[in-house]
Amino acid sequence: MDLVFATNNENKLKEIQQLLGASINILSLKELGCFDDIPETGDTLEANALQKARYIYERYGKNCFADDTGLEVDVLNGAPGVYSARYAGEEKSAEKNMDKILSELQDVAHRNANFRTVVALIIDGKEFFFEGKVKGSILKTRQGKEGFGYDPIFQPAGYSSSFAQMAMDEKNKTSHRGRAVKKLVKYLKNYL
Ligand code: IMP
Repeated sequence: MDLVFATNNENKLKEIQQLLGASINILSLKELGCFDDIPETGDTLEANALQKARYIYERYGKNCFADDTGLEVDVLNGAPGVYSARYAGEEKSAEKNMDKILSELQDVAHRNANFRTVVALIIDGKEFFFEGKVKGSILKTRQGKEGFGYDPIFQPAGYSSSFAQMAMDEKNKTSHRGRAVKKLVKYLKNYL
């Protein structure tokens, strides 16, 4: 079975193909011939993930899924959430986004936060959601150089290092995206 993953992120593509094995053939947007800037105008992670999956399903008629992720900080009432990529502006700068969070949390003791990923799957016209969440806290300064986005300032619960101090394999084992994808993979294996 072919299944489109509505992303151009090579790391995400590799990761999921490895988890799925040979029975499902993952196609990227490039392989599908889709070079559009797919709109993400929803105000929740669920709405954005579904918007991306529907965009592909409606135009190409192919089973597909899409993901959307946000960092949700308790004392910021869940912000930046669905606006994580552009929290400090349209240029989508990870450095500026981290600076903004660090300054908002300056002198704040309660630093709990979580990453949440939502995967929306459309298969034979039916729509499903899978969620993965990892709890943790916002560090006072950046730690580590691996990963991307907010990784240097996020420390998962039960660990003494930030996501940016972990090897990719280690992060994927516990990460929000890893957890959502595992639920998706379990569903797909049963579906076949
Ligand atoms: P996306 O939905 O995967 O494109 O993620 C939206 C934004 O959330 C990204 O631009 C990053 O700022 C942030 N983000 C998503 N996943 C991660 C992660 O695993 N670590 C750190 N930041 C992330």
